Amino acid sequence: MTFEFSDRLKALPPYLFKELDRIRDEVKARGVDVIDLGVGDPDRPTPPHVIEALKVAAGDKANHQYPVYSGMNSFRNVVANYYKRRYGVDLVPDTEVCSLIGSKEGLAQFPLAFLNPGDVSLVPEPSYPVYRSGTLFAGGTSVFMPLLAKNGFLPDLKAIGPEALKKAKIVWVNYPNNPTGAPASLEFYGELVELAKKHNLIVASDAAYSEVTDLGKPHPSVLEVPGGKDVAVEFHSLSKTYNMTGWRIGWAAGNATLIKGLGLVKSNVDSGVFQAVQLAGMAALEGPQDCVREMGKLYRERREVLVKGLAQAGIEVLKTDYTFYVWASVPKGLKSAEFASKLLNEVGIVATPGNGFGPSGEGYVRFALVQEVPRLREAANRLASLKF
Ligand SMILES: *Cc1c(COP(=O)(O)O)cnc(C)c1O
Repeated sequence: MTFEFSDRLKALPPYLFKELDRIRDEVKARGVDVIDLGVGDPDRPTPPHVIEALKVAAGDKANHQYPVYSGMNSFRNVVANYYKRRYGVDLVPDTEVCSLIGSKEGLAQFPLAFLNPGDVSLVPEPSYPVYRSGTLFAGGTSVFMPLLAKNGFLPDLKAIGPEALKKAKIVWVNYPNNPTGAPASLEFYGELVELAKKHNLIVASDAAYSEVTDLGKPHPSVLEVPGGKDVAVEFHSLSKTYNMTGWRIGWAAGNATLIKGLGLVKSNVDSGVFQAVQLAGMAALEGPQDCVREMGKLYRERREVLVKGLAQAGIEVLKTDYTFYVWASVPKGLKSAEFASKLLNEVGIVATPGNGFGPSGEGYVRFALVQEVPRLREAANRLASLKF
């Protein structure tokens, strides 16, 4: 019997890190104490009051049956309250909010609701790979918008070609940005909304890191722009804010037609988020928020420690108040993958080569600040010993 993968699976970009994975396993096998700053997954536990809320909710038989695929009314109310409280944005919980099984789920499914074969998604690169793969699975084509240092890692909206704009249905953005950590301003979102209105585009904004900061106020939201709700949907997640990556809960919020389309896809594919997890998510959003500020402070402390070591090795990084990533320039004469394997071989540190997120990531590596300060101090000491 021979089974072949579908053309859509065959069209997925190749996995670039096979060689690096091999080196990592080899270095570990040598007995080296490897410091893994590769994967963007918070190391600290979920706050205790959220875990308690899950325990209580899990014991209630009302939560044992199928949930409503678009989310409990109470969950959607809590999300609407969040936007009101944090942004002064009004949302109708019934029609403008939908729960997600982690925001990745929504990002991946969304193109199925609005793209036809041949339609274009405008996709930033370097970026989280799901905007591309979701577009591909829906039969669409990605046209890439490079994120360059000279533009503050924002897409140059004026550089998008007229042909691409004509065929485009969705423009994707992600700020605070993974992998660079760069923020966007409300002015940028304003220009994006204006472009979308002019060309009948959907703005799909991935805001997974908007609360990963110690500034005390969130990163701006595209829904704050006057008329933003006419064209935009924002994908949000509890994963990074509350150390809940394993729990699988997020939401989409914004334009009612966009939420309705996404909901139609979802009602045919899944049956919503376990209600006990939704109740725990509500406890996270409505409970004490000092844990969020503390994580932001902790990431700043970790960032300072690692960046110091990098500076001693002559490596420059993008300064930012957001995310738990450090986007570092590769020393002259080296490629991203070469530098990453040098880090592994010579000092036992795992970082992700920037080109894995897209061609414009060449020349960079990403460090995820997902180890405690003493470990990062050790990483910094090792880095400081590097010579180029
Ligand atoms: C982590 C991450 C997400 C999603 O996380 P979920 O756990 O699926 O909610 C979305 N976008 C970016 C850029 C991320 O880094």
